[in-house]
Amino acid sequence: MTGNREDELFEIDMKLLKLMEEHIHKVEISRDDVDEAAYIQKLTSNYDGAVPGELVTKLIQSLFNEAGKGRDDDAERRMLYSREYKSSNTIVEVNGHEIGGLDTVNIFGPCAVESYRQTAEVAAMLKEKGFGIIRGGAYKPRTSPYDFQGLGDEGLRILSRIGEEFGLAVISEITAPGRVELARPHLDIFQIGARNMQNFELLKAVGRSQTPVLLKRGLSATVEEFLYAAEYILAEGNPRVILCERGIRTYEKSTRNTLDISAVPLLKQATHLPVMVDVTHSTGRKEIMAECAKAALAAGADGIMAEVHPDPDKALSDSKQQMSFAEFDDFYTNLP
Ligand code: PEP
Ligand code: MN
Repeated sequence: MTGNREDELFEIDMKLLKLMEEHIHKVEISRDDVDEAAYIQKLTSNYDGAVPGELVTKLIQSLFNEAGKGRDDDAERRMLYSREYKSSNTIVEVNGHEIGGLDTVNIFGPCAVESYRQTAEVAAMLKEKGFGIIRGGAYKPRTSPYDFQGLGDEGLRILSRIGEEFGLAVISEITAPGRVELARPHLDIFQIGARNMQNFELLKAVGRSQTPVLLKRGLSATVEEFLYAAEYILAEGNPRVILCERGIRTYEKSTRNTLDISAVPLLKQATHLPVMVDVTHSTGRKEIMAECAKAALAAGADGIMAEVHPDPDKALSDSKQQMSFAEFDDFYTNLP
């Protein structure tokens, strides 16, 4: 670049920085009058110049955040997950299904993808009953390293084939940042498992994609930590985040974990993001799953997750807690 051109550019950028400074000052004094999400939406829909919408959103969001940094109390900062930032419910659309919308959207399927046939049997059953999303683990983060670890990449390929053949959206857990790109063409929703809720590099990696993310609450995570984990994804520019309460660790041994029903209304009040409840991993008890699912929906959950397997006794993981088709029949007809 010639000296002249560089000088011109320098002048333009100095003006740009001055304008950014003006934006920050303005927000600092009038912050509570601005609905940031609605404002950014208005800006991107009115602006049709050469700066891409994603960049406009990121830039203006960063300026809003910068203005919030001056406040010493972090809680006062407008977090992207918060109702203060966006008052209306976020609806995450997956293949025409609106998670967080007026209707309940459930996610059922086996704990793990064990074979094409096993997954196809579940898919056919779900499709016949009118469900639109199937789950199944390909990479299984097991407590013991000697337990079945999932089929890995092959599991993802089976799932995406099932999705196409049965017209179902598919969700599966991603366990490493390096797998996000590989998994992206196969999945409609990335699941972040409880054990990875604070794997911040993984959260940032899925945050850089635009694929919906179902984030599970960590085994011993507080509601606040759960929301901060969601913030990691949102802050990278992916607004399609679904939260999933899946039970927390307490002294109680009669259930696998303790289903924290109070987290559901707490989350619904604190955030605009959809909230689902996994009744399989929270209770681990098939005989109380329907009642717990009803309680979760009554508390405001946007949908239920549960595991179902064609032959639970022979399942390679979580065999005691996966429902058979007959048990599943009973379960889902009991839901409101
Ligand atoms: C799962 O849903 O497959 C799973 C492993 O659950 P969690 O991460 O909640 O334990
Ligand atoms: Mn399981």
